[in-house]
Amino acid sequence: MAEGEGFEAKLAERGAILRGHFQYASGRHGEIYVEKFRILQWPDLTEPFCRQMADHFRGQVNLVAGPTTGGIILSYETARHLGLRGIIAERKDEGEGREFKRGFEIGPGDRVLVVDDVLTTGGSIRDVIEAVRERGAEVAGVGVLIDRSGGKVDFGVPLFACMTLDIASYAAAECPICPTGAPLVVT
Ligand SMILES: [Zn+2]
Repeated sequence: MAEGEGFEAKLAERGAILRGHFQYASGRHGEIYVEKFRILQWPDLTEPFCRQMADHFRGQVNLVAGPTTGGIILSYETARHLGLRGIIAERKDEGEGREFKRGFEIGPGDRVLVVDDVLTTGGSIRDVIEAVRERGAEVAGVGVLIDRSGGKVDFGVPLFACMTLDIASYAAAECPICPTGAPLVVT
């Protein structure tokens, strides 16, 4: 992590990384929660993250793509650093997955950097990877701001995370925070 501890402190100070007692979307409990739009609303936080992703993949890609909604900001800002186009993959109108709409040009010969904010299970990133391949383009790598998957997610392409958070989670019945009586925040 190039930005160092001062940067992580800044994220905490802006309320982007919260500590407490949380119930995640999975139903499990844990003590750290990342409120990603508390990063994305601040250009001075988002810009250095995107610069790191751009620097890591510079010369290896010719197009940047991200999933709505956070990916709109990340694709734009990362592409700006690379002097490339940044496009977005949106949910399909029917069925599962994502696709490129709005006349975005992407096809054979394109080498795409897929960007996203927080990597948890990797579902939305996988959808973008599929959308890229459906167009006949190649995914050259994946860049995320924060990997909180504990290194469990493998996309089969190079992954770069600006920051890695080791977030333990517990089945509700085994949560060590519950007995302390700390109020549970459902995320
Ligand atoms: Zn708990």
